[in-house]
Amino acid sequence: MSASIRFREQTAPFAQKLFDEVRQLSRSQWGVTRLGYSETETRVMKHIESVAVSMGLETEYDLAGNLWMILPGKNRDLPAIVTGSHADSVPEGGNYDGLAGVTAAMAVARWLKSEGIELERDLRVNCFRCEERGLFGSLGLCGKVKAHDLQRRHSADGPTLGEAMQACGVDPMRLTTGEPVMDLKKLAAYIEIHIDQSPKLDSLPDTRVGLVTGIRGCYFHLAVKCIGTTAHAGAIEYDARQDALMAASTFFVRAREKWHERVQAGDDLVFTVGICNTPSFAALNIIPGEVTFSVDIRTLSEETKEVFTEIFYEEAKRVEAEFGVRFEFDVPLYTPPSACDPELMRKLQDAADRVDVKMLRMASGAGHDGMAIEQAGIPMAMLFVANQNGSHNPHEDMQMDDFLMATDVLREMIEHFDD
Ligand SMILES: [Zn+2]
Repeated sequence: MSASIRFREQTAPFAQKLFDEVRQLSRSQWGVTRLGYSETETRVMKHIESVAVSMGLETEYDLAGNLWMILPGKNRDLPAIVTGSHADSVPEGGNYDGLAGVTAAMAVARWLKSEGIELERDLRVNCFRCEERGLFGSLGLCGKVKAHDLQRRHSADGPTLGEAMQACGVDPMRLTTGEPVMDLKKLAAYIEIHIDQSPKLDSLPDTRVGLVTGIRGCYFHLAVKCIGTTAHAGAIEYDARQDALMAASTFFVRAREKWHERVQAGDDLVFTVGICNTPSFAALNIIPGEVTFSVDIRTLSEETKEVFTEIFYEEAKRVEAEFGVRFEFDVPLYTPPSACDPELMRKLQDAADRVDVKMLRMASGAGHDGMAIEQAGIPMAMLFVANQNGSHNPHEDMQMDDFLMATDVLREMIEHFDD
């Protein structure tokens, strides 16, 4: 029997068991909830660690609280191969976003161990914390967390990021020093398996695995305020209003038109307002004097980001003049786009050819820890697995056969990394 067939047969029950156990540990009202730097995330990581220990892997935590599970290689002085993903999820998310990559990496380590295959170098399986809130586990590893991000809250009544880190035994200020918490020269390459999150791969009957070419950069405003004047809905005429909600809505529509123009011109660009709230005292008969909203702009091109954000802020000025309101933009959170490493992509393509898995070359629309890793100078690559019902919702799904195909490509690539 070929290695591929045996690997897939042995991995299916192992992966299913781990998926079920982690789902059970993090089940919430509709889906799973494993927030970054929360007790649930810690519980899930402890469980994953116990599985790694039972497989005979070495385990350790770095100063950002990330879990590392290590299969020693022949020459421990050589920089290691890193593969894995993140432990956390969005609130009421699906089970496979993050967990698929950790499980795939563990399955590869488990196979190598049970077959007695010794790699030239260490294999380090990573389980990062807090990817969904802004890549804070991987940024923490690189010492690149921004001090002002530590003040951000996940929800109005929740702890700040800094407080949540402290509750997990992490010193948040250490992660803002610019100094990595680990010698990054000891990491040769980072490879992550992740669910696709778009309908793309799932629409292709014969191609269920994606070879990622790059990751879109993200430009976020978490809380922009549009400030007008709170007033009586019946008493104030058209010209006398400073209606924050009408102004914000007009701004969204104009920004959408500008976005469409850029897309028509051939730019890679997406734009989303995911949050838009009037104050808690909002009422049917009150003209809203304040609206808070988020902005999410993503593109593969740094230049497109520059062009679009300039147009975007100009449009805000126009709306301010038209409606007599004021926009207060919070400090944007920017992660530049990341290109996948051509040499790692070639190794993955060669491995896929050997195990007879077809792959589609595609960009990643969603952000991933690989961005922080690539920007720290470590070559990075990703494989996507077809999945159903998107992601960041409880209906997200993935088929075991598709997962096994991608995992087999990863196994083949890692087994022959130094050939
Ligand atoms: Zn993810």
